[in-house]
Amino acid sequence: MQGSDTIFDKILAREIPAAIVYEDDDVLAFKDIQPQAKVHVLVIPKRRAASLNDLKDQPPSNISAFLIGVSNAAEHLGLVQGGYRVVLNTGRDAGQTVFYVHAHILGGEPLGTFGS
Ligand code: AMP
Repeated sequence: MQGSDTIFDKILAREIPAAIVYEDDDVLAFKDIQPQAKVHVLVIPKRRAASLNDLKDQPPSNISAFLIGVSNAAEHLGLVQGGYRVVLNTGRDAGQTVFYVHAHILGGEPLGTFGS
């Protein structure tokens, strides 16, 4: 979905429900509806960007706040000790389907070798 009215805009605006697991001033984190791992959470910045390509045009403080928010969400989920994977699908070839930038956090179990 492209434009500024994606499903994640609606989740952030609380117009549609989501299983929210973490929130702070900068990010919102909620469970992916089609989990690919025992823990699969999506983290979005509260200041919207369509993808990483657009996020890079924002002030560096916004970008660092997003990454810190991803790390804080993973910590909140108890993933620090075991480790976790962060994926930022960007654009068509990566299979990005929702054009509101989002980090996938995957973990809670040993993950396959990347790309397998
Ligand atoms: P991507 O391919 O990186 O754009 O991933 C989009 C992700 O959003 C997919 O893993 C979907 O399962 C997930 N998704 C789509 N709609 C929702 C929703 N309403 N709540 C939670 N996750 C969603």
